[in-house]
Amino acid sequence: MIYLDANATTPVDPAVLEVMLPFLREHYANASAGYGPGRLVQRAVEEARQQLAGLIHAESEELVFTSGGTEAINAAHASARILWPDKSELIIGATEHPAVLESAKRWSANGGRVTSVPVERNGRVNLAALKAAVQAGQTALVSLMWANNETGVISDIAAVAEIAHAAGALLHTDAVQAVGKIPVDVKRVPVDFLSLSGHKMHAPKGVGALFVSARARFTPLLVGGGQERERRSGTENVAGIVALGHAAELCRSHLNDGTMVSIRKLRDAFEQRLRADFPDMQVHGDLTRRLGNTSLLSIPAVDAAGMLILLDKAGVACSAGSACHTGDLHPSHVLEAMGIEAAEASSTLRFSFHRFNTQDEVETAAKAVIRAAHKLRAERGDGCMVISN
Ligand code: PLP
Repeated sequence: MIYLDANATTPVDPAVLEVMLPFLREHYANASAGYGPGRLVQRAVEEARQQLAGLIHAESEELVFTSGGTEAINAAHASARILWPDKSELIIGATEHPAVLESAKRWSANGGRVTSVPVERNGRVNLAALKAAVQAGQTALVSLMWANNETGVISDIAAVAEIAHAAGALLHTDAVQAVGKIPVDVKRVPVDFLSLSGHKMHAPKGVGALFVSARARFTPLLVGGGQERERRSGTENVAGIVALGHAAELCRSHLNDGTMVSIRKLRDAFEQRLRADFPDMQVHGDLTRRLGNTSLLSIPAVDAAGMLILLDKAGVACSAGSACHTGDLHPSHVLEAMGIEAAEASSTLRFSFHRFNTQDEVETAAKAVIRAAHKLRAERGDGCMVISN
């Protein structure tokens, strides 16, 4: 399989797997245990915390390990809701991940007010609208993603922080797609909460973290045994945490060793190859501020659901998932928010690359896409394979 769906999940780096295995085999003691093996495990957890802190320029005490991005997001929202009962408003972006959208629904079910800020056609949040929406004394939290999982569009989180803080609101950013792919520095960009996830950065699924700035107050979502300095109860997923720490260290070095540039070049070559055959192809999102690994594109009159079937047969994994959630032809809320017509949305595919992709794979995948798209266009011409919008 040629795997071009890294924004859905990434393969675990073999080096990451190596460092986590001993914590599944011999170092199985509970990190809270007072005897030697427990202390060894506790030290490994703390080392991982430092490694992760290094990647985002946080202090290690500012990191709370969680079960992933979704939990981190829910914890940040719940904390703001509980700690600021007199401020009832949550502001989110229109293209947020379902973890944020569904948590926002809970916010309003619990009596809060939620405002969704629109995005431009290029997927960037309209900062003027954000500024107009944030109300001093009413807005508790602004929750805006650092990078979008479908388009790869990167937000100006520094500007968002300025707007939120000027009104006395806290800022949470869903940085699940940003961390490890682009520099994220919480010292330079003063967010209060930041969510991240292991499985988007070559660590396993089921581990993530919430950054809680030393400036921000926090109340835990999960209570119980008091792990994570009372901020997230539950016996630690030690192997996952150790893996996340090592993955963070690898990402940190890959941010500077040309790996991300190579991924971008692969993505750009892929887009160019497709454009040569389909000059009417549209690439969505702000092309000047986009993750280097992500390509969300539409080939007119080529149905994405049909493409997924043909590409699957050809051994290429990509996603229309977010564009027309598999088996469900509704255009994604992201494309809708960007004002993209249903017809165009229904021909949208997402390819997301990672550091283990090779040039050969990308060339083979591009050929498979071109072949499949010509086939679908030809069949559509015969009237055989029109899938309605
Ligand atoms: N936020 C974004 C932008 C994502 O892409 C994802 C994963 O798809 C999540 C949050 C949820 O993260 P997790 O799968 O670790 O719960």
